[in-house]
Amino acid sequence: MVTKNIKFIHKKRFWAGLLLAQFLLFLTFSKLKPMISFFESFFEIQKSIHQLLFSWVPFSSGDILYVLLGFFLLYHIIKCFKKKGRNKSLLKILLAANIFYFAYQIFWGMLYFQTPVIKKLSSQEKPTVTKAKVLALRYLERCKQTRESLKEDKNGVFVITDLQAIQNEILLQQSKLPSFISGKKAPGINSFKPSLFKNVMSFTGILGYYNPFTAEAQYNSELPSTFLPFTSAHESSHQFGFAREQEANFVGYLLGINSKNAELRYSTEYFTLKSLLGFIFDEDPAFVKAALLHYSPAMKRDRAYEKAFVLKHQGVLDDFFAFTNNLFLKSNQQEGSITYSYFIDLLQNYEQ
Ligand SMILES: [Zn+2]
Repeated sequence: MVTKNIKFIHKKRFWAGLLLAQFLLFLTFSKLKPMISFFESFFEIQKSIHQLLFSWVPFSSGDILYVLLGFFLLYHIIKCFKKKGRNKSLLKILLAANIFYFAYQIFWGMLYFQTPVIKKLSSQEKPTVTKAKVLALRYLERCKQTRESLKEDKNGVFVITDLQAIQNEILLQQSKLPSFISGKKAPGINSFKPSLFKNVMSFTGILGYYNPFTAEAQYNSELPSTFLPFTSAHESSHQFGFAREQEANFVGYLLGINSKNAELRYSTEYFTLKSLLGFIFDEDPAFVKAALLHYSPAMKRDRAYEKAFVLKHQGVLDDFFAFTNNLFLKSNQQEGSITYSYFIDLLQNYEQ
């Protein structure tokens, strides 16, 4: 019994040590440019294999994986509280942590260290509220105009008619991105999946997420139609290889803003408008209030519906409609020092 315990302690130390070693290894890789390029290329290969394996599955296989992982962890954590079997369970948790950490880093984590998109733009000025106001008015007009041609439900709220067409359009637009922003390959494989956790998502304000273990782009199918197309564009940008949140917003913006698909275009213009207003709000709330009054009646109905959706899912997101925030930021904290205004930053410099 004693020798058995010592054996377990040694094994535990080994796996814990390996986890630490992995951490240090990837930390080193993250600072080496050739390694980052390697992982960028590796991502393309990994993604094509994963899409071959999972894209045809009609539901999110990544969600199933997460559920299984959840059960596995729960089972072994409970076992850790009992004396019998504690060592074995601890060992299994450590082993799983090693595998998942490694897979996460090589499939996804290293992409956070790619050259920031802002460095690829010719202009790199700091965003200003004055410019944001000009853009906000421009996008407000665009929204109003695009909104006129869209379909509504019986309450006069915008509804998308064909999600599949939107998804195909996003994939097509990926292949048309300006080459100075993206040299990535657009495989054109449809791997958008409605999340199995849509209820949880509605209550926590998560709109969508990319699963690095299966290369699937999940979205919350309960979302109001105003959100759904742009959320898909955003998640597809992760799938395309842009890890940073605000860069996924910006690439999503590029995919949708000039699209011939009016549903995708409206959702993108509306997202852009909301982001700009959110940026302006701190400095000039009166401007934002005036802009809201100038929404077209149709846009006001869409906004009221979004508001009702959030309220129905309770006050966790109270400040959302105060335009001080956006949902993407809340769902992803990996950004560190890069703030919400980075999207505005990219937008303003791109527009120049
Ligand atoms: Zn995201």
